[in-house]
Amino acid sequence: MGSAARIAETAARVVSDAGGEVRVRAAAEQILVRDGRARGVRLASGEEILAPVVISDTGARNTFLRLVPADVPLPFRDDLRRIPTGMATVSLYVGLSRSPAALGVRGENFWIHEGFDQDALWARRGETLAGAPPHVYLSFPSLKDPEARAHTAEIVTTVDAADFARWEGTAWKRRGAEYQALKDRIADGLLAAVEKRLSGFRDLVAYRELSTPLTTGQFTAHPGGESYAIPWTPDRFHNRWLQVRTPVPGLLLTGADALMLGVVGTAMSGLMCAAAACGPATFRRLRSEAHRLEVPATPATRTATSPSTV
Ligand SMILES: Cc1cc2nc3c(=O)[nH]c(=O)nc-3n(C[C@H](O)[C@H](O)[C@H](O)COP(=O)(O)OP(=O)(O)OC[C@H]3O[C@@H](n4cnc5c(N)ncnc54)[C@H](O)[C@@H]3O)c2cc1C
Repeated sequence: MGSAARIAETAARVVSDAGGEVRVRAAAEQILVRDGRARGVRLASGEEILAPVVISDTGARNTFLRLVPADVPLPFRDDLRRIPTGMATVSLYVGLSRSPAALGVRGENFWIHEGFDQDALWARRGETLAGAPPHVYLSFPSLKDPEARAHTAEIVTTVDAADFARWEGTAWKRRGAEYQALKDRIADGLLAAVEKRLSGFRDLVAYRELSTPLTTGQFTAHPGGESYAIPWTPDRFHNRWLQVRTPVPGLLLTGADALMLGVVGTAMSGLMCAAAACGPATFRRLRSEAHRLEVPATPATRTATSPSTV
């Protein structure tokens, strides 16, 4: 229970309880490789932190094309450069003046699609820029969180990162009037798409803020602002170097690029990293510790029961 921040807070507590330190606003600039082995990282501040094992969660491209020095032999750099940017999204974060339960919503997610042909909808994703998204995902985080102090909604759809590339290099929140006009058009279109399915939703909107692939890139550093890591094509699954263990001794890769996209795939990559760093018995230990955890029951009234695709 709790917002997405709870995931980070929980992980940070585990680190500090074990004597570690979590730093924010501390960009790694280089992975230090000496005598053929990863020895630590150099931060943008110039500080060097040495460690017996370095685990990178910055994605495969950042890790192998930016952070590992170019003179460290990696046989797959060119292959990695050839992989196209993954799927990008725009997200409208909405503050609601009162509970969406008034509209009959109980916390379920909605996939509002203009039809069942997913390939056709995907091909039309550019229409989102004109304020006519062919498909949207709608979620109500506050209805899933008993600790929420205000009501919120999120509306997400897919876009091409290339359509935002002309503003690459501009500063966050200072990208200019044309960019703001585009964001307003997209936000209006997302609200209209939801309103068609959920009449009265627009009247609840007290605050709205749209993120674009530039926003995602700003905060995650994923190239092109891709939301779900390297594209999940059949080629990706034949790829033997996108995995936790890297050719550089002492360097492990974690996160969506190391195993599987999404929150669960990323969490599993963390377990695999722990096992790679501490030995296979780690899995057994973590499983028995997980059994001891008390998992709070989800309130029955919040269970999704209505059709999510219309
Ligand atoms: C809008 C949006 C909605 C999503 N919705 C869902 C969903 O509903 N369900 C789901 O399962 N998944 C969802 N995802 C995908 C999910 O968030 C990702 O798959 C997951 O967060 C990937 O985890 P990660 O640890 O690999 O990368 P990230 O979560 O991106 O973490 C990478 C971290 O590395 C940091 N970093 C990068 N470079 C450096 C550096 N040089 N030095 C220090 N730190 C650095 C970044 O700041 C970031 O904190 C969504 C993604 C987006 C963008």
